[in-house]
Amino acid sequence: MSKKLKSIVAAIILFVFVAVFVISYLSPLFVLADTTQDRINQKQNEKTQIQNKIQEATEKKQGVLDIVAEIDAQIADIQGEINGLQSEIDDCNEKISDAEEQIADCEVKEKEQYENMKKRLRVMYEDNNTSYITMLFGSDTLNDILSYIEIIKQIINHDNNMYNRIIETKNQVKELKAEIEAEKEQIEAKKEVVDGKKYELDAEVDKMNTALGEINGNLESLRAAYDEAERQEAALKRQLQAELSGSKTSASFNGGTFAWPTPGYGTITSQYGGRMHPTLKVYKVHTGMDIGAPMGATVVAGADGTVVKAEYNVAYGNYVVINHGNGYSTLYAHNSVLNVNKGDFVVRGQTIAKVGSTGYSTGPHCHFEVMINGQHTDPMPYLK
Ligand SMILES: [Zn+2]
Repeated sequence: MSKKLKSIVAAIILFVFVAVFVISYLSPLFVLADTTQDRINQKQNEKTQIQNKIQEATEKKQGVLDIVAEIDAQIADIQGEINGLQSEIDDCNEKISDAEEQIADCEVKEKEQYENMKKRLRVMYEDNNTSYITMLFGSDTLNDILSYIEIIKQIINHDNNMYNRIIETKNQVKELKAEIEAEKEQIEAKKEVVDGKKYELDAEVDKMNTALGEINGNLESLRAAYDEAERQEAALKRQLQAELSGSKTSASFNGGTFAWPTPGYGTITSQYGGRMHPTLKVYKVHTGMDIGAPMGATVVAGADGTVVKAEYNVAYGNYVVINHGNGYSTLYAHNSVLNVNKGDFVVRGQTIAKVGSTGYSTGPHCHFEVMINGQHTDPMPYLK
């Protein structure tokens, strides 16, 4: 290839590139439609991704729920074990208090017996010394005396045996009580171990519940994000349709209702009509209605139309006016951010701004006006 031919080919290639670039630049409708379709595809991808995340989170949640069910079953088992051990401990306690009662009884009897013996001995040897001696030596025969001594010996023996038997019984009961107490200690040690296990499982359940709370919160925000993506996709589809049908500049509001300007926030903080102006402190006609919404909340177009104003004004702050055709227009004031420019075609429900508190405003809200041929009117009938 000659040097000349090479430069001709290069020139042709350059020309084609420039021509393609210029043509695509000069046909904004084509580019716009393409961009909107791209944005729709993007939204659909976003939705799929969110759905995958929802699926993941749902599976994770099911996993945690399964674990919780398993732990709950274990806790139920352990609780049964704990209840069994507790009733054994209760049994032991009952037996111990029975034994204590028996011991107390023995002690009373022991004391009584001891007192009886003392009394008898006193009777025999001290108080009734005389009669005792009389009894012994007043007897006529040695046989009598011997049998008396025998009787006394027997009485003393009997007393002694009684006393010893009481002490023996008492000691037996004490031994039994000690055995029960040892048994009870063992059961209590066992119960302590099981209690510890249950405590650990309870802590595990607490952890799982915390994890569940996190997953649920995550799911909630994922679902909200999905809804938002779907809403945006729908708005983009309407935009694309409008673009493709070439109705870009010919929206015609049919007198129906407008979309609520602040989705999710419906508290009307000030109605349309006469009122004392909150910052100017003078009686003024309120040309729209105020809807309370947090800073940064979404402000959407009430209907399809062309943005005729997207600018700052000392009273309205950052505001947008949309011409919906047929003499209808809407106004959205005090925004923190404007998402559209003058000349943009917007569709019903499309995000046009973010709620703010710019201009004459005491706090974040959306001041919404409906105008017919430039005259403000009560917006409420157009929102029902
Ligand atoms: Zn207002």
